Amino acid sequence: MISSQKVCRKCLIEDMDTDEFFNRLNDYIKNYPEEKRADEVTYKNRLDICKSCRYLINGMCEKCGCYVELRALKKNMYCPHVPQKW
Ligand code: SF4
Repeated sequence: MISSQKVCRKCLIEDMDTDEFFNRLNDYIKNYPEEKRADEVTYKNRLDICKSCRYLINGMCEKCGCYVELRALKKNMYCPHVPQKW
């Protein structure tokens, strides 16, 4: 959980500096609840597929607008491409 950290519920990306934003993103990924996250092998496989996908732009999926590391992290999530790539 991120409860021990300072969080801002009103800030947009444009309001944060880049380092702060990416640190928070990485902390979120690291601390995402075990029961909701995909297992490590599935997570890495999903990201490998994203890394070879033409819709990956600057860490984001052009199909859905998600950061793929966040999307792939969630157990029940799926690729938005039709047909799904993962
Ligand atoms: S379309 Fe699917 S495989 Fe491609 S970047 Fe998006 S989530 Fe990843």
